[in-house]
Amino acid sequence: MAADRVIGVDLGGTKILAGVVDRHGTIERRHERPTPTSSQDELLLELEAAVVELRDDGVAGVGFGVPSTIDQRAGRAVSSVNVPLADVDLRARMSERLGLPVGVDNDANAAAIGEWAFGAGRGTRHMVMLTLGTGIGGGLILDGRPYRGAVGAAAELGHIVIEHDGDPCQGTCTGRGHLETLASGNRAGAEARAAFGPAADAHRLVRLASEGDTRARAILERLGRRLGSGIATLVNVFNPELVVIGGGFAAAGDLVLAPAREVLAREALSPARELVRVVRAELGTAAGLVGAALVGFEAVDR
Ligand SMILES: [Zn+2]
Repeated sequence: MAADRVIGVDLGGTKILAGVVDRHGTIERRHERPTPTSSQDELLLELEAAVVELRDDGVAGVGFGVPSTIDQRAGRAVSSVNVPLADVDLRARMSERLGLPVGVDNDANAAAIGEWAFGAGRGTRHMVMLTLGTGIGGGLILDGRPYRGAVGAAAELGHIVIEHDGDPCQGTCTGRGHLETLASGNRAGAEARAAFGPAADAHRLVRLASEGDTRARAILERLGRRLGSGIATLVNVFNPELVVIGGGFAAAGDLVLAPAREVLAREALSPARELVRVVRAELGTAAGLVGAALVGFEAVDR
């Protein structure tokens, strides 16, 4: 009875989304505040304030989904691209300040957990999720549970190599030709600007393509085929039942997913390719919040 509600906190580059969530994934109350980007101290205080604002006696724990690489041994946020969070023991600091069990995870892992429990992945035991946004985030559910790797740094699926020695990756990544470089919303924006001028962006690209513009359709097809190469690799490695595609750029829908499925059918091996389905995420921005809450429940139950 006591441990039936937690606070989930989804930290994004522009806003902090926090909510009280029960074990059925119902968001009882939620609140948004801007993400401070000037310093880590300010950001940590704001994350704490987001919890304090929603907290009541029925809240048993807190889960944070952060856009960072994570070391689960110490609950440490190791590095981040879009927010000032680096080398900080987030779990220990927050559980000390709040006096509650705290769980932390990468935001894309949290979104995958949310979609698996309450969204497009309900009922599956083997699921891959890709979040197409500024970069490409990844999450894995294997054998009926979230997979986090040896120390919690899995599953950076956006950094699989699609093109050997290809274009440099983003942020602190030193790699080249990674899926995130070649098929993210950022890449869509860059290709839109190259084709349609400096005011164009990924949204405009998708709108033009859905209105039938052949150049826009060709760009999205190319991005989709690259995405398909990435999905095929993941299908060959993990044999998932389902691949869930989320994030803002997933709004391109079949303009990107149809060519992705074509390449998947060519590159993935039988029988995995006949089994797998590629679908869009269902929970939208709530996936990260609900998933963070589930990470909080994991901490409470531990
Ligand atoms: Zn990379």
